[in-house]
Amino acid sequence: MSASTITILQVTDLTKHFPIRKGVLKRTVGHVHAVNGVSFSIRPGESLGLVGESGCGKTTLGKCAVYLQQPTAGKVVFKGTDLGSVPEQELRRLRPQFQMVFQDPFSTLNPRMSVEAMLGEPLMLYEGLKSGQRRRRVMQLLDTVGLRPEHSSRYPHEFSGGQRQRLAVARALALNPSLIVCDEPVSALDVSIQAQILNLLDRLKDDFGLSYLFISHDLGVVEHIADRIAVMYLGKIVELNRESEICRNARHPYTQALMAAIPIPRISAEKKQRKLLAGDVPSPIDLPSGCSFHPRCPKVMERCRQEEPRSLALAGGGEVACHLYETAAAN
Ligand code: SF4
Repeated sequence: MSASTITILQVTDLTKHFPIRKGVLKRTVGHVHAVNGVSFSIRPGESLGLVGESGCGKTTLGKCAVYLQQPTAGKVVFKGTDLGSVPEQELRRLRPQFQMVFQDPFSTLNPRMSVEAMLGEPLMLYEGLKSGQRRRRVMQLLDTVGLRPEHSSRYPHEFSGGQRQRLAVARALALNPSLIVCDEPVSALDVSIQAQILNLLDRLKDDFGLSYLFISHDLGVVEHIADRIAVMYLGKIVELNRESEICRNARHPYTQALMAAIPIPRISAEKKQRKLLAGDVPSPIDLPSGCSFHPRCPKVMERCRQEEPRSLALAGGGEVACHLYETAAAN
């Protein structure tokens, strides 16, 4: 079976660097290394969690994965089509199939449009639905995300944060996508509302056979919705594995630190004893030598300061980029 038939999204060696320009002539004096050679795939109906601290490149990776930002290098293949090689017109035709939901829906919902107009617009532009058809479809969408018919005449400012996120999900669903990139979709919500939105996303995944790239800084949130989890640090994936493996048997010292930081009672005493992560993420402008995590790693060795660890395939699936596992992976 070819890769294209078993993956909905295949990202290979994706890199995104932003130039830093200074002076009157706007000369390039450096680069922000936001994403550095990331590879992963997402299968149909799968939810891949992408977790890491703020500023590690998660959002940039999410935007590049659906070509809202042009990668500096690397390849994004969606359902067998290399998005970097198709003309703009073809990319526009494909866009309804991959959507994005952001952390702050208020900034992405047009304040001057009623819900009916906002949800109806893509149905008119992309599917050419007439007024009556659009209205029926808008009502269906509202019902699907747990909103009521009377909400269709309201404007974004008339909704609570949780309801606005439901609206953003409804808009993402309008054109029957296959893949939704959810970028911190519950981070700005109260804990009780977070659970409602996570449950909604989980149900929609099953009902519509959706795939998610679910981005969050909070491993405790990601574990509720992800089938597999990719852990990102300074623009690289340092560990990727099934959700159960990441949560019960995290290998990478950074993943272990993220696990230890989850404030939940069921976390084991052994995990509680682990040291929480010290220090801040180094600047993505001037990346540390060797392993990017070495300035903060409690298990750092001399070679970690010089030599960048490669991604190692683990027995039973999954991968980790850490010198500690080189012998284990080779055996
Ligand atoms: Fe720590 Fe070295 Fe592994 Fe990096 S390669 S995570 S510094 S042990």
